[in-house]
Amino acid sequence: MKKQEQNYKCGVVSILGLPNSGKSTLINNILKKKISIISSKVQTTRNAVKGILTNEKDQIIFIDTPGLSPTKSYLNREMSKSIYNSLIQSNINLIIFDSNTKILQSKKNLFTKLIDKKKKNFLVLNKVDLVKKQDLLKISKELNDLYDFNETFYISALRKTGFQELLFHLRRNIPKGPWMYNNKEITDQKQEFIISEITREKIFHLMNQEIPYSVKIESKIINKNNIIKIFQTIFVNKKSQKPILLGKNGDKIKKIGIRSRKDMEKKLNKKVYLDILISVENKQQKNYENN
Ligand code: GDP
Ligand code: MG
Repeated sequence: MKKQEQNYKCGVVSILGLPNSGKSTLINNILKKKISIISSKVQTTRNAVKGILTNEKDQIIFIDTPGLSPTKSYLNREMSKSIYNSLIQSNINLIIFDSNTKILQSKKNLFTKLIDKKKKNFLVLNKVDLVKKQDLLKISKELNDLYDFNETFYISALRKTGFQELLFHLRRNIPKGPWMYNNKEITDQKQEFIISEITREKIFHLMNQEIPYSVKIESKIINKNNIIKIFQTIFVNKKSQKPILLGKNGDKIKKIGIRSRKDMEKKLNKKVYLDILISVENKQQKNYENN
């Protein structure tokens, strides 16, 4: 470790909780950038998304996880595996609870599974803007009786309240060590990721679930003078999905492309040339990024 790195801190924080508890809203509003899609529909976040927050000497890597379902069997499914992985890798688990919902037994069971006693477990009661204070304290007590959380926070991810306190404790509780990402990596990774997510959002909105949300998208960005060239490949799982995505005379993909390009130009503040290719991905070659 270099001398100036001696006081550096770096930690991984998993954001866990039921669908709609506000995980994506929290991560996006903490990072002040739209990095994962917010939706009232459940389970739209496919992979654990990394958001990186660096502040002076501290680096926090946030992992957003797909929604957990209290009814489905745990760890058997691909989505649960990514949650499991992020549980293993993280230093702190942030367990987000929508305070505006009832605490059902099924939720309690799930909570106890999420808690990893080898780590710090923070309870985050979200959506405090929708709940009376006395109800909030009741929820806090009930969940803390279930498990003695290291800390309990009261936030509104949407209104961005309670963040300061939460971030203060996160910074305090991450271990000492060198950063995992340097500043250049942070920006590079973000840009390609954001570009792919823009297109994913358009597909999601225009395709009525005929194309799964989990569709893989790769983006290559080439900066040239005053124009940015973006080459994207959308990998569909089945041959039959390709004509659906293309649409009649290619009108669907055209629409997706136009909407995506407009958003990309707004985001990048430059003229964008966008080229989208649809490719049928071989099942055998499919590997899950989180495994
Ligand atoms: P996720 O499934 O856990 O990632 O949840 P999202 O971040 O997608 O949020 C689900 C819904 O709850 C969205 O409609 C959000 O706008 C809403 N939401 C999230 N946080 C808050 C909050 O603090 N207050 C209120 N009123 N709504 C919130
Ligand atoms: Mg989400």
